[in-house]
Amino acid sequence: MSEHRKSHLFYQTRHRRPVLDQARGVYMWDVEGKRYLDGSSGAMVCNIGHSNPRVLEAMRRQMEKSTFGYRLHFETEAAEQLAAKTAELAPDGMERAFFTSGGSEAVESAIKLARQYAVARGDSMRWKVISRFPSYHGATLGALAVTGYSPMTVPFEAMMRPMPKIPAPRAYLDGLDPEDIATGRHYAAMLEQKILEEGPETILAFLVEPIGGASTGALVPPAGYMQAVREICDRYGVLLIHDEVMSGGGRTGKFFAAEHWNVAPDILVVSKGFAAGYAPLGAMAARDEIVDAVLDAGGFIHGYTYAGNPLACAAGLAVIEEIESEDLMANATRMGNLLKQRLEGLKQRFDFVGDVRGVGLLLAFELVSDRVTMKPLQRELMAYDRLVEMAYQRGLIIYSRRTRGGYDGDHFMVCPPVIATETHVEEIMENLTAALE
Ligand code: PMP
Repeated sequence: MSEHRKSHLFYQTRHRRPVLDQARGVYMWDVEGKRYLDGSSGAMVCNIGHSNPRVLEAMRRQMEKSTFGYRLHFETEAAEQLAAKTAELAPDGMERAFFTSGGSEAVESAIKLARQYAVARGDSMRWKVISRFPSYHGATLGALAVTGYSPMTVPFEAMMRPMPKIPAPRAYLDGLDPEDIATGRHYAAMLEQKILEEGPETILAFLVEPIGGASTGALVPPAGYMQAVREICDRYGVLLIHDEVMSGGGRTGKFFAAEHWNVAPDILVVSKGFAAGYAPLGAMAARDEIVDAVLDAGGFIHGYTYAGNPLACAAGLAVIEEIESEDLMANATRMGNLLKQRLEGLKQRFDFVGDVRGVGLLLAFELVSDRVTMKPLQRELMAYDRLVEMAYQRGLIIYSRRTRGGYDGDHFMVCPPVIATETHVEEIMENLTAALE
């Protein structure tokens, strides 16, 4: 029997991985007792680390009361409290939240809310959602239609309506002049051009990750980009949707990454760090005017059975309380600065370490064959697989993704939980350096 047939599970890959036994704080242990430092918080999920006592206690208390109440039959205190907290953290004028069980559902919900709002306003010609490539917004067919990553989307194109895409601002690749980079004008202009090309009366929304996640490797936009994008959306009556599934939740030093530029979207979604791996949970919040218009027109059409269940909401609330009471966003900034500086240091030692980027503890580095052109390493070197494997052997987990508009570059997310200390940063660097060697 081939290797992948030995398990009754099937996921994307046929490689077997260690069997997880326990996890505490930033560490995880397999059933053989080997310890791993969770250097990517899973897939940038477990932001406050594993087995946090406050969260476990909140979940235990909720479990003893009730674990499920169907949302059309009951309201729950946990969901109400988490919605109030979400409204407090979201930009002004977003007083209500809608919960889902994950990021793809939250993205789908945002698109559907935007569409229902357009229909409610008698603007039903607007249906196209412009997004970017590379990008990842989820695996369900609606979220996939706005995902800019062809290996994942092409097989399903016949089953969905692919949406217009513009390039994500990768100035480090495109060799732009410094003024363009500072203003973000070059890339924002592509949005305007796309809107005009497609016909502004058909454009529903622009969907963007304020700081890129795994698809771009922690891509930080040029300084003026988010602001310019906001202005263009306003000019053409296009809704701005922020996908903060990965960048939200405090990892960048702010609860929502867009706060770094003081830009408020019309609709935002968050998931991974929101319940930080303790429960499947996502959320969507929108400007009150949008929510009111949709509710007045008969309500939001779709929901998800498990969404907003009291156990997930209790977990989410406790996660946010932990972030606030322990000042973990400040720690994300402090440890992020230290880790980024140490990653930059790898460039001196290894000429194949290219761009190092990110904010707070949403960080990534690239492997390149030429630092000037940023050309990726030769495929045949299999550097991607080898680096992940070497790090694994040394007990360090890093998140890797072959990407670059696709699939021809290698970048690695280094995103430990935001409870990380200097000792953990040093342990990451020691094992990473050894693996790169
Ligand atoms: N949007 C972004 C930016 C993501 O990173 C992800 C997950 N990697 C998703 C959406 C989809 O989330 P989920 O896997 O929870 O459905």
